[in-house]
Order: sequence, then C-alpha cells, then structure tokens
Amino acid sequence: MVYQLMHGLLNRLFPPHCRLCGVASGTRLLCQPCQDELPWLARRCPQCACALDTTGMPSPCGRCQRQVPAFDATHALFQYQPPVDHLLKRLKFSGELALGPLLGELLAEQMRRRADTLPRQLIPVPLHPARLRERGFNQATELARAAGKQLGIPLARRLCRRQRNTEPQSLLSNTARRLNLRNAFTICGTPAAHVAIVDDVMTTGHTSNELARALKQAGAQTVEVWVIARAGR
Ligand SMILES: [Zn+2]
Ligand SMILES: [Zn+2]
Repeated sequence: MVYQLMHGLLNRLFPPHCRLCGVASGTRLLCQPCQDELPWLARRCPQCACALDTTGMPSPCGRCQRQVPAFDATHALFQYQPPVDHLLKRLKFSGELALGPLLGELLAEQMRRRADTLPRQLIPVPLHPARLRERGFNQATELARAAGKQLGIPLARRLCRRQRNTEPQSLLSNTARRLNLRNAFTICGTPAAHVAIVDDVMTTGHTSNELARALKQAGAQTVEVWVIARAGR
C-alpha cells in the first residue's frame, strides 16, 4: 500500500520517459513510435525461431528436421540487433532492472496473442550460484517474473539448478558450446506437463536444448522456449 502510494507519487513527480528516445511516454516505458520501430521478427522456424527463406506456412527449418531439438517451439520477439541488443545489455550488465518489466511485459503481450494454450509454469534459465552472486540478479528471472505476473503463470525458480559453472558460451566455438553444456542442469522436483523456458537471448539454442532435455527427462511433456531476442539468422 505504502509502496503503491509512493510509486504513484513518484510517477506524478517524474513521469516515465521513453527508455530509448527520452520523450515523456505516459504510463509506458517506451513511447509508441520507438516500440513500433523495434526489430520485430516475422517468418520464423516454429521450432527454433531461425529465419526462414520459404514462403507459405512456416514449417521447421532444415536443421530442426535433421536434428529435432528437445524443445517443441521457440517464441522470440526480436532480432538481436539495435536497439534491442543495447536494451538487453543494459538489463544484464548495467543492472537497469526497470528493463526487466518492460521487456517481460512485451513478451507477455505477444504470448497472450500467439499461444493457443499457455504453459503452466515459467522456468527462467538458471545462472550458476557463483555467477548469480557476482551479478546479484538473474536477467532471465526478471523477465519471467514480469511476464508471469501479466499472464498469471507461476514461476518455478527453484526447479532447475545449474550444477557446473560453465564457460560463457560467447567465448566458445559451436561444438565446444554443446560439450560445455552437457549435464549442466539438474531438475529438483517435477515440472508441470507444459512449461516454458524463459531467457534473454537465444543464439545456437544449445542452452535451451540442454535444459529442455533435462525437463523432459523429469516428466515435462511440452517445453517451449520464450526469448526476447534471437541472435544469428
Ligand atoms: Zn521513444
Ligand atoms: Zn528450426
């Protein structure tokens, strides 16, 4: 109650400004023109969200057909390019936590529109405890919390643990990335039958694949991946 009063008062004294261009943006954290200009994705592989060259009904890309991923679908909002890459870096490395609700709410808005059936649990990709201590927060949890709140889906924060402190994926080659992640996650409990993994960016999909595999071994039947941005093609 006190918090809400303070929040309302602060908003009146310092009305929100667009996080990208700085104009007054009413109750929103981005103004409408900036939101419209974001690199929204279209024509994507329904399974891994990579770009498709074909026209007609989207069907899984060649890579997904050759080696079927453990996850059943990927929903990505944006291409990982300016200004979305900057927003995600500001969230992750500058600790600009207000960007968590902003991007998490955009994710929720899209998922409400796209999904026939929403998952029963959101699972943020866990950080290793050592990395979590170092950063102080997990950006995936910030995004999942905001999206879950909008959609009324609970967060399963303690269900998955990262058991090895893996090398940052960005420093590794493709094959090394896959090996680096082998058995990286343990599931402590039983996931819901239909869950969504939430993360900030998907690059090769190896992290989501490894986590989805562990979740299915633990009893999940449908595992989706929800990310803010898809890097690469
Ligand atoms: Zn703006
Ligand atoms: Zn694919």
